[in-house]
Amino acid sequence: MTSPIADPPPLIDQAWSFARAVATFFADGCCIVSRSQYERRLQICDACPSRADWKCGACGCIIPLKARGQSMQCPLGKWPSETTGTVG
Ligand code: SF4
Repeated sequence: MTSPIADPPPLIDQAWSFARAVATFFADGCCIVSRSQYERRLQICDACPSRADWKCGACGCIIPLKARGQSMQCPLGKWPSETTGTVG
């Protein structure tokens, strides 16, 4: 699905969001979700109007990476973090 980001967050906010996501991922032991959890997250993002190609328009994160981390969560609450992942 290709659509422009209507009103993406400022670059500084995207950078801060990315830094927090990476820090959270490492603090969580670099755990990743199962394949089924990953695909479910991607399906939700595919249908989300905030999605712009591979990027989340709400936080600026790269969706295929964000959806992989167990500790990650959708900034709009469309999918939660998980606790059943494995070390990646
Ligand atoms: S992470 Fe959430 S807000 Fe971002 S594209 Fe996916 S569902 Fe939409």
